[in-house]
Amino acid sequence: KTTREEHSFQAETRELLNIVARSLYSDKEVFIRELVSNSSDALEKLRYISVQDASVDTQGEPFKISIKTDKFSKCLEIIDNGVGMEKEELIKNLGTIARSGSKEFMEQYQKGVDAQNIIGQFGVGFYSTFMVSDKVEVFTRSHKKESVGYQWASDGSGKYAIEECPNLPIGTRIVCHLKIDDREYSDEETVKSIVKKYSSFVGFPVELNGVQINTVEPIWLKDPKLVSIDDHNQFYKFIGTAFDMPRFILHFQMDVPVNLRCLLYFPESKPGLFDLNKDGSGGVSLYSRRVLIKSNIEMLLPKWLRFVKVIQNRVVRFLVDKARKEPEAYKKFLADYGVYLKEGILSSQEQMEKEEIAKLVMYESSKFGAGETVNLADYVGRMQSDQNEIYYLASPSRELAESSPYLEAVKNRNVEILFCYENYDEIVLMQLRQFNGKNIKSVEKEVRQSQEKVDFKEDGLQQAETNELLDWIKNLLAGKCFNVKATPHLESHPCVITVEDMGAARHFVRTQFSQFP
Ligand code: ADP
Ligand code: MG
Repeated sequence: KTTREEHSFQAETRELLNIVARSLYSDKEVFIRELVSNSSDALEKLRYISVQDASVDTQGEPFKISIKTDKFSKCLEIIDNGVGMEKEELIKNLGTIARSGSKEFMEQYQKGVDAQNIIGQFGVGFYSTFMVSDKVEVFTRSHKKESVGYQWASDGSGKYAIEECPNLPIGTRIVCHLKIDDREYSDEETVKSIVKKYSSFVGFPVELNGVQINTVEPIWLKDPKLVSIDDHNQFYKFIGTAFDMPRFILHFQMDVPVNLRCLLYFPESKPGLFDLNKDGSGGVSLYSRRVLIKSNIEMLLPKWLRFVKVIQNRVVRFLVDKARKEPEAYKKFLADYGVYLKEGILSSQEQMEKEEIAKLVMYESSKFGAGETVNLADYVGRMQSDQNEIYYLASPSRELAESSPYLEAVKNRNVEILFCYENYDEIVLMQLRQFNGKNIKSVEKEVRQSQEKVDFKEDGLQQAETNELLDWIKNLLAGKCFNVKATPHLESHPCVITVEDMGAARHFVRTQFSQFP
């Protein structure tokens, strides 16, 4: 004769359950992810134990996770033949919050962070079932010898009951009795799309009403050397529901400082007109132990995700390498995606990081023909010993740059000038400020600051006449200009106007206004 025991949840668990049950969290569906991931953990554990100890009985069944939906009784079941739980384990694992995710969640919650924002991030594990269930039953039997089965049941308020349950197979079956408003989770198609979204790469077969719906081997876990381009193309289509191909593929593994498997695809297609305006989200998904934690991780990552910087450095190194080995493909990439890199320079907070990204940008140069581009590192490498600064000229086109009075003014110094044609280039370079210890300076500013003396020629204006002319112009433009001076550097242009910074903004302003006559 079995006895039914009533237990109270630990106080902290009660509080957590209260938050979860009251939560208006919009992605309630993550409870399925949590249950599947628990089953996957339980299977992983049993697989490990049975490899260590041949006497452990796995009942000859292949490891798998089965999900069953029943619309009529509004039930969703998740079944695994994993390690199962003994009575003490049931009490400890499902009655307290020892697990790190829930603990972290409660800590953040107590600090006043809105629960809606963090449920998905930390996951509240098993307890998330109570977001959608009036009642949850757990049938479980441990893999340990002479174990007995138990039924655990709770409505998620303050208490749960445990009683012995005969004839259970080894493993765990969880039955969610869905709330009326959440009965969609007993619909096969709905559940299928949720499992595909979060659990496509769980390392065990996942069956839904008897049909397997997942891909067991995620490509990023494979040895990069063993994955063919064809595999990548197919996988890329699968995850991106994309119609193009990856143009570059970065696939690597590392074990320190974190255990990381990384697979990044650079799309072949150009970014859409509005892609750049999408606020701070990248199309990178984070999986932990094959379960999707978050897709489109934002740029501003929480502290616990700071390892993503590791990825940033790898991406930069990867692209530097591409530029060297496949210059043509890289140039095309820059033409399509260069604006993102420049945005990276603008938005990053640290100089080191800015310079890291700046290694990737390229500009045309006065030392090379139209169409050829150079990067900053090579530019610095070519600098003469008497040149201390990196010079650029912002201009809407090559022709305008070459015929510019600013260029003429520095021509005899024989320094290399970078030509920048995009209206945002100047802001980017001003933000960058330095590269490899060299200041970055606009030619216009250089001309403005130049103190060189004028050599008065016999057939031109003399010193006194020049001063008279300068005074006349100063008088004429009083209040409209800062200074007027003579320069020895112009030959074909009579004069040049300079501003301190953002000279090229003139062109920008002009094009902007010409659109609104
Ligand atoms: P976490 O998975 O982070 O440990 P959960 O709240 O999801 O936290 O689960 C709590 C614990 O309950 C697990 O650590 C595990 O010991 C136990 N558990 C949950 N589901 C199962 C299962 N299907 N089989 C065996 N044990 C389970
Ligand atoms: Mg879990």
